[in-house]
Amino acid sequence: MTEHDIANSNRPDTTSAAHLNYDVIIVGAGISGLYQLYKLRALGLRVRVFEAGTGVGGTWYWNRYPGARFDSESYSYGYSFSQELLDEWDWTEHFSPQPQTERYLNYMADKFDLRPDIQFSARVASAHYDDDDCCWTLTLEDGSRHSCRFMVAAVGPLSAPTMPRFDGINEFRGISHHTGLWPKEPISFEGKRVAVIGTGATGVQTIQEVAKTAGHLTVFQRRPNWCKPLHNRPIDAAEMTEIRKRYPEIFKHCKETLSCFMHTPDMRYTMQVPEDEREAFWEKLYDTPGFGFWIGNFRDILTDRAANDAASDFIARKIRQRVDDPETAELLIPKDHGFGTRRVPQETFYYEAYNQPNVELVSIVNNPIERITPQGIKTRERDFEFDIIIYATGFDAITGSFDRIDIRGMNGESLKTKWRQELETWLGVQVAGFPNMFMVMGPHTALGNIPRSVEYNVEWVTDLIAHMHENDFVRAEARPEAMKDWTRFVLEKAEGLLTNEVDSWMTGINQNVDGKQTRIVARFAGSAPAYREHCDQVAASGYREMRLD
Ligand code: NAP
Repeated sequence: MTEHDIANSNRPDTTSAAHLNYDVIIVGAGISGLYQLYKLRALGLRVRVFEAGTGVGGTWYWNRYPGARFDSESYSYGYSFSQELLDEWDWTEHFSPQPQTERYLNYMADKFDLRPDIQFSARVASAHYDDDDCCWTLTLEDGSRHSCRFMVAAVGPLSAPTMPRFDGINEFRGISHHTGLWPKEPISFEGKRVAVIGTGATGVQTIQEVAKTAGHLTVFQRRPNWCKPLHNRPIDAAEMTEIRKRYPEIFKHCKETLSCFMHTPDMRYTMQVPEDEREAFWEKLYDTPGFGFWIGNFRDILTDRAANDAASDFIARKIRQRVDDPETAELLIPKDHGFGTRRVPQETFYYEAYNQPNVELVSIVNNPIERITPQGIKTRERDFEFDIIIYATGFDAITGSFDRIDIRGMNGESLKTKWRQELETWLGVQVAGFPNMFMVMGPHTALGNIPRSVEYNVEWVTDLIAHMHENDFVRAEARPEAMKDWTRFVLEKAEGLLTNEVDSWMTGINQNVDGKQTRIVARFAGSAPAYREHCDQVAASGYREMRLD
């Protein structure tokens, strides 16, 4: 008998979960949580989803800001697991707008009758693990408590919106909203004086939309980003029929690419390609819909400084061509980071918006915002009056959605405190010391094209839970040494990436959140096929990297 067996022989009989409220509780009813519910229910388990919103959709429920839409091709972004769903759903634009995506996720939830197992307006405040009973107890903000054997955190990598820390925010007398908490009631910008703070992917989508109708739009920009044209267009019935025929090919292709997008890098090295050929290639990519210029570029644009400088210079020239006022154009060209080293916003006449008489760009680098006033915004040099202020100031990314819940594992250890000391995970799915907790799209997973990665993660977690169920195991925990190995592997895979040298949510930086000022490696930067191969091997080996009791 091993030490572990002796310890186990003293345990109460926990194989039956009858005394627990549920077998599994899933936190979040976004793309991950919905599919996780569908899969676990099929195992015959008692599953409950707690969702803070009043509807399904996660990201696509909360981010209903003006202009919100996919940046990935719609047909590569839907679920692939159900032929019926693929047959029944028509995408009407190559890059689906938020209302359609929200409808799609509602359609999916209704088709598979998921709603009865989802509790809405239910924000989880804490989740505490009890090792004697091998179970989790989740407490909602309303004080109700719910126990389960397994908890799946499907909380999303970009779902904790952050406001800037300006004085006076609550004193503003007009309308103000964060883009990630946008209200359901439509807001008209017609003739209004509108401010947008933030120029990330969200800010760019918002600005180009609001500029169409606002009386006057003032954009407050701290650091510009390198944007490229989205080239969206409608999908008519005939094209949808063609797309539907190609679904198997599309999903197979996404499975094989580095980050599950439709685009694949060109395997040539930038500086080895003659300049005129390079220019022609970049012109073609610039005219290609979606992430082509970022992900389908030469293989070394994110690792070789000269290559990156050349690609950046190409985009800078485009910005200068598209923006009439040379001073404004220079303000819109990033000087502190190269193309693609932060998430590339995709735009539709974003740069042209600055040629409109009703749009003004205010750089707040040397003229910072000092406070929000009852009438508007006060920068060091000027007082502005607004009817509407839009905060497109981003998210406490990757770990922020976990930090918002008081998650405590063995011996009351806090996940937030642990991760503040060092971000460690095993496969991005588990953390040693937090048995029976699984993460979908947790830190250190291959993010890429989110639904593609979600489907894999969910299926892997489902297989593991099924394996436990079949073998009457009640406790699953990654071995600490396996977690160390995986974390080391994640760090190695990120070496040499120019992305790591830049502050962004992808390196865990958020100046609006205490403790998020040091860069981390937040994502698995290796290829998605390599990630899947590793996880498949773990499963095939009978999960030897875990302790299953
Ligand atoms: P973000 O990329 O983090 O951008 C936040 C913006 O707010 C930045 O311009 C930032 O300036 C500015 N900001 C933050 N705090 C500020 C402050 N105190 N004062 C002034 N400016 C401040 O966030 P996001 O635009 O919401 O995008 C986050 C991610 O969501 C994207 O990268 C993308 O992955 C995802 N997203 C996806 C889609 C899509 O697929 N369709 C659309 C939108 C977003 P600094 O740069 O100087 O920090």
